[in-house]
Amino acid sequence: MTRKDISIGTFENSFASLPDGFFARLDPPPVSEPVLLAFNSELADELGLETSHLSRDELALVFSGNAVPLGAEPLAAAYAGHQFGNFVPQLGDGRAILLGEVRDRAGRLRDLQLKGSGPTPFSRRGDGRSALGPVLREYLISEAMHRLGVPTTRALAAVLSGDRVLREGYKPGGVMTRVASSHIRVGSFQYFAARDDQAAIKRLMEYVIDRHYPEAAKAESPALALLQAVIERQAKLIAHWMMIGFVHGVMNTDNMALSGETIDFGPCAFMDAYHPDMVFSSIDQFGRYAYGRQPGIAQWNLARLAEALLPFIDQDEKKSVELASAAISDFAPIYHEIWLDGMRAKLGLVQKEEDDRALIGDLLDGLHRKGADFTLAFRRLGQVHRDVSAQAFLHLVEHDALLVDWLDRYRARATRDGGDAELRSAAMQRINPIYIPRNHLVEAALSAAIDEGDLGPFKKLHDVLAHPFDEKEGFEAYTLPAEPSERVYQTFCGT
Ligand code: AMP
Ligand code: MG
Repeated sequence: MTRKDISIGTFENSFASLPDGFFARLDPPPVSEPVLLAFNSELADELGLETSHLSRDELALVFSGNAVPLGAEPLAAAYAGHQFGNFVPQLGDGRAILLGEVRDRAGRLRDLQLKGSGPTPFSRRGDGRSALGPVLREYLISEAMHRLGVPTTRALAAVLSGDRVLREGYKPGGVMTRVASSHIRVGSFQYFAARDDQAAIKRLMEYVIDRHYPEAAKAESPALALLQAVIERQAKLIAHWMMIGFVHGVMNTDNMALSGETIDFGPCAFMDAYHPDMVFSSIDQFGRYAYGRQPGIAQWNLARLAEALLPFIDQDEKKSVELASAAISDFAPIYHEIWLDGMRAKLGLVQKEEDDRALIGDLLDGLHRKGADFTLAFRRLGQVHRDVSAQAFLHLVEHDALLVDWLDRYRARATRDGGDAELRSAAMQRINPIYIPRNHLVEAALSAAIDEGDLGPFKKLHDVLAHPFDEKEGFEAYTLPAEPSERVYQTFCGT
């Protein structure tokens, strides 16, 4: 029996009010013995949830799916998607259940979704469950992304289910509660396009415009305006990923949210040593989703969205194709501009100069050549404007002759940029993090939690990542790349 008497606030169920074909309604199948491992009370407060009257046991009931909160109308959403380039006409929430939406303190609608809560009509051959490892991983990394200033889904709760799931051997199960601006994906549109259901595409388009891009409603072609707005948000998002060395790992079209938030943290990872072809995911055999390929893949995914929207862009089919193609082509220059501005900011530069692209390119080439740590390199460059010497940076790049020359060029460029050196340095430390969720730290925190039942390292890492730009004494180990013996080269979905 599922309990239905616990209230956590007022639910709005706007997605649930869409036509039947958009989802399947169901209560989450209960788990055996839910135990609350992590709860994000700051986020709960931001969402205006009323949870302070609830015990940890009651929170565990709600955030495992064993108690459906009052007013929620749970459902599993339908979507399709290109997975590694191959179209799958039916994917859908196979291990996720949307409880509904709540209105946060800023007045925005936010989805509450359980992940790993059990089978749904979209589970195909899967068990609908999740192992605890990926739950804790997503909790840590999505919250770190948020603190780094990147648009992302958030983590509200992590629960141990009390069930074992079969992955590579039996693993403890977990349920994650994720919060998103919405869970509508490129694949949500593809689902209806594959069925040639124009009415549904139109309905979904109107819903997305209303929820995320209300200004598009006023445009001559709302569909084109929507496409352009999504392109711009994705360009910003991917540029941000690139600026912090984030590799998503599974940029399938079903993992790209229309809201412009990072979504579906699977085998994602942060680069240590800079390498444009960096791949971590064990399932990405051909490097389709390598670090340096992410902008191109985003553009490819957006072209799939454009295809689904084509019938609504213009009445004239040929003109629709022209307009959509132009919008997709614009992704590259829009992305590049945002990236270039972002990289300038990482170098503490405000003015624009013709040669900046080459300056940045030469730095990245140097980091690549030396296998230098991406995060530390920028952090240490932030120090060279102070009276302290450039030794920390030069040590990191092993006094590479080309980078020694590059540093002179950079210093001259910074001088031309004007402004106060101390302020430049401070501005750089506000944009170049010192703490990122380094793979070996994440893996160590997860294995302590899972193998030894010790959540200490998880909590400590979580707290360090909550202030990624403020260097704290006594936390040097969290700033460093892994020793060779601890290096993590591969990450797994483990779903
Ligand atoms: P992902 O690549 O993790 O975003 O998942 C792709 C698709 O597989 C989605 O439709 C998921 O719902 C589904 N899926 C992943 N893991 C499971 C699972 N354990 N049980 C059922 N469906 C799953
Ligand atoms: Mg997914």
